[in-house]
Amino acid sequence: MKTCKSCGKDRPLSDFYGEKRNSDGRQGVCKACVKSAAEDWRKSNAGRKRETAKEYRSGDSRSRYLELKRKWHNDNRESENEKQRKRYASLVTKPIRNPVSPVKALMDARKRQLAKLNRTPKWANVAAMEEIYRDAAEFRAAGLDVHVDHIIPLRAKLASGLHVHQNLTIKLASWNDSKGNKYDPAADLV
Ligand SMILES: [Zn+2]
Repeated sequence: MKTCKSCGKDRPLSDFYGEKRNSDGRQGVCKACVKSAAEDWRKSNAGRKRETAKEYRSGDSRSRYLELKRKWHNDNRESENEKQRKRYASLVTKPIRNPVSPVKALMDARKRQLAKLNRTPKWANVAAMEEIYRDAAEFRAAGLDVHVDHIIPLRAKLASGLHVHQNLTIKLASWNDSKGNKYDPAADLV
């Protein structure tokens, strides 16, 4: 039990609101007294509160507030933009790509192109083909501009070659140039 400082009545602790700073953890005034005091305050200040709100909506304080807000945004625009950029940058992360070996990259690129042409038979010796692409990748790494080419083009007019190791060869890009061939994007496919 605890005696309320306002009404002087003895009341159970549960009738008092919590107050960390007090040794018993409760306020000195009971809940009922707190409520009636709040009610009294509300009644005597209701009019004033309405006036304040009205004044705020229509009057100086609102425009002063808006002006301050604008000024703050102007003064802090750069740093605010920077903060915003950082926030977005942390959200937009680039997908992590698995490192692909140069050999695989070359073969995969060619595979995608060839899938359309449907010129890879089931019996194709993938290991032997890989070896040719591996050699080409080594040449490239050494600075030679080579590509893997088909001896019989896959889309020739009279006969069509297959995408198999027997039909693969490594060519220097400059060989084509020396033959005076025009660059033909379609030729790159076969
Ligand atoms: Zn009381």
